[in-house]
Amino acid sequence: MIKLTKENTARAIERCKQLKPKVRFLEDRTFAVESANNPNVYQVRFDVKDGEKFGECQCKAAERGLVCYHIAGAAAVNILRQSMKRMAA
Ligand SMILES: [Zn+2]
Repeated sequence: MIKLTKENTARAIERCKQLKPKVRFLEDRTFAVESANNPNVYQVRFDVKDGEKFGECQCKAAERGLVCYHIAGAAAVNILRQSMKRMAA
């Protein structure tokens, strides 16, 4: 899994805003993200350990340890979900 920091997610968030991939919720902390430029659908998973956030994706960029726009897109949806859950609680 890739450790997510403000620094390494900034570019991915920018790309995500341009490409606007479709994100689907699968189960807690797991999302399916459609590629913007090919028919692939990637599964993105998140984890939190000792207050640090981690993410993983099945695409080539993430394989090389880069935060891809799939992770950024799923992270945005994940944050929304978490805050909605807190509001409902
Ligand atoms: Zn990816």
